[in-house]
Amino acid sequence: MALQVGNYSIALDMHEPSSNVNFISHAHSDHLSGLRKGKGTIASSATIEMIEAKKGTKLLTVDKPESIELLNSGHMLGSKQLYIESEEQSCRIVYTGDYQMQRSIASEEIEIRKADILLMDSTYPYANIEFEDRDEVMTSIQHYVESRIARNVVLFGAYSSGKAQELIKICNGIGISPLVTEGIAKMNKIYGDHGIGLSYGVFSAGELQQNCGTFAAVVEQHRLAEARDSISRMCKVPVLTAVASGFARMMKFDTDVQFTLSDHADFRQALEYVDRCSPEIVYTYGSGAGTLAKNLKANGCDARPIASTRSFDIPSLSKQIEKT
Ligand SMILES: [Zn+2]
Repeated sequence: MALQVGNYSIALDMHEPSSNVNFISHAHSDHLSGLRKGKGTIASSATIEMIEAKKGTKLLTVDKPESIELLNSGHMLGSKQLYIESEEQSCRIVYTGDYQMQRSIASEEIEIRKADILLMDSTYPYANIEFEDRDEVMTSIQHYVESRIARNVVLFGAYSSGKAQELIKICNGIGISPLVTEGIAKMNKIYGDHGIGLSYGVFSAGELQQNCGTFAAVVEQHRLAEARDSISRMCKVPVLTAVASGFARMMKFDTDVQFTLSDHADFRQALEYVDRCSPEIVYTYGSGAGTLAKNLKANGCDARPIASTRSFDIPSLSKQIEKT
């Protein structure tokens, strides 16, 4: 999707060949496909630092036009929504990116503005999928770690930015400093620089060999099986694997335990967002766009699914509002 704002054609979290600027809402890898040499990026400073640390290269950034504001989306550190206010066209537009309404202990709280047009993410569009209260899930994770750590290594798999830091903070809440990979430690440093302090150690194979015992650890999700095997070989203690994801509500992971801890909104949260934003039209995008639009419509919203190739400009969006 792209949005025309003045001289900028802004690609929203994706590669859009005709655009001249990228908006990157947050540092998760599925939102970085628009990064191209020579194309400027609009993103928060935390997002830029994380991408640069992951990619090992400097990003070309551009100043955003005055009509654009970045609002916290609550998804992870530095995650932002794009808010545009066109006085000329009397039109206010919000693009959510990935968002959640519940406050995570490792992220800023979401900000919601009134708008006329809402472009809304649809990761969890189903009316019957409801996430539990975040504090209760955190307490379950803490109980699990506390009750197992005397006899086991407890090993979490997570994204290197976002969920990893939240899991570290959850462990810190019961006085445990988990071991993490170097990749996660790099992200932790940026979290610390932005005011989210974390207590952790960094994996070192040599140290593990000499100093094995039981501990908690967080590694990248795709390295979970490999880490489990090498820790159990080296330390000769049972290794329990764990995952914390919204998808745990819908599917069985190949781990010893799974917790439903999402950094996205469920349908109930989408409804709350729409209620507080009170848009004239909601355009839903992403894999669940059709289902989310249908479910929002059933709740009285003018919701319409859109394809990811859609481009918008403000004059035609204002015309849409006039028609409603
Ligand atoms: Zn994300």
